[in-house]
Amino acid sequence: MSNRTFTMIKPDAVKAGNIGNILQMINAGGFRIVAMKYLFLTKQQAEKFYEVHAARPFYGELTEFMSSGPIVAAILEKGNAVADFRTLIGATNPAQAEEGTIRKKYAASIGENAVHGSDSDENAAIEGNFFFNGLERF
Ligand code: ATP
Ligand code: MG
Repeated sequence: MSNRTFTMIKPDAVKAGNIGNILQMINAGGFRIVAMKYLFLTKQQAEKFYEVHAARPFYGELTEFMSSGPIVAAILEKGNAVADFRTLIGATNPAQAEEGTIRKKYAASIGENAVHGSDSDENAAIEGNFFFNGLERF
């Protein structure tokens, strides 16, 4: 069990003006921000980030969406970070997300679902390293 996870506030939530609301929920959930950036991915960068999903039918749609507007990327710290953060964000499909979760509150659909959360300690490290170098973590 590691104490770090990686998240993105996705283009739908940024466009809807929900960066502040989502960061508030992240802080209230007990996560400390280790690193954070506001950036606009190219299609090629989104494809690289989501390489593990390349064979999935929604890969094109997903990478188009993730490169459709700016995002916030961050590394978060807390005991049991990966699992606890996935609990805080709720199910991939907001229609199935628990009340009080970030996706229940701010996501519109399974494709445009407001936030990303790493699914394992290994992927949290890979994803954090994709966006941040050692000098950008505090
Ligand atoms: P994330 O990795 O973004 O935290 P997740 O782990 O809950 O989400 P994954 O299975 O890893 O879900 O899918 C990655 C992303 O691909 C989802 O967050 C969603 O934006 C998109 N996605 C997943 N399934 C579908 C689908 N059936 N149709 C459209 N988009 C989808
Ligand atoms: Mg995932």
